[in-house]
Amino acid sequence: MRPAIFFDCDGVLNEEPGGHGVLGPNDIRLIPGAGKALRTAREAGYLAIIVTNRAQVAKGFVTLAGLETIFERLRELLARDGGIIDAIYFCPHHPERTPGGAPEFQIVCECRKPGTLLLRRAIADFDIDVGRSALIGDSLRDIGAGRAMGLTSYGVQTGFACRDVERYPDRAPPEPDRMFADVGEAVAFCVAHPWKYGQAGQPD
Ligand SMILES: [Mg+2]
Ligand SMILES: [Zn+2]
Repeated sequence: MRPAIFFDCDGVLNEEPGGHGVLGPNDIRLIPGAGKALRTAREAGYLAIIVTNRAQVAKGFVTLAGLETIFERLRELLARDGGIIDAIYFCPHHPERTPGGAPEFQIVCECRKPGTLLLRRAIADFDIDVGRSALIGDSLRDIGAGRAMGLTSYGVQTGFACRDVERYPDRAPPEPDRMFADVGEAVAFCVAHPWKYGQAGQPD
């Protein structure tokens, strides 16, 4: 079994553009140090796996083919700094029926984070050791998905900075195990603390 670091995409590896989000390859602007962070993760023996909500597909703003061009650009920019992604798992769904949307993707699903199906698929596909793995996200949706899988879940101050508490009007929001300035700091900490953070009996 191998450990993995699961990365959210927008707000962690590339800037969160706001509005409707990333709609094309030209909307991809790397967060400084993201490529190097991926390289550090893989050199330390971690799989680098992206888990990302892409509701723009359900909303009719991006086609699946368009999404591929976005991911291609992301991979290309990250690779300039030696960053390689082992796999990208995405959710194209959204539960709302909005005009102009793609009805086949306008469904309630289990993959849209904080749902855990993307993580469960990746863990099965790559035989991932959850206890030695971690997730890095900028949204409480990411943190919620990670916590639900028992993953150490780190937040970053870039993107939404885990301040999207309005998603949890009637219950306590999930809390990141720890916050970092950016993905570079978060990966450096992961690599230096290979066991589940705070797990009893493991080196801290
Ligand atoms: Mg994000
Ligand atoms: Zn989904």
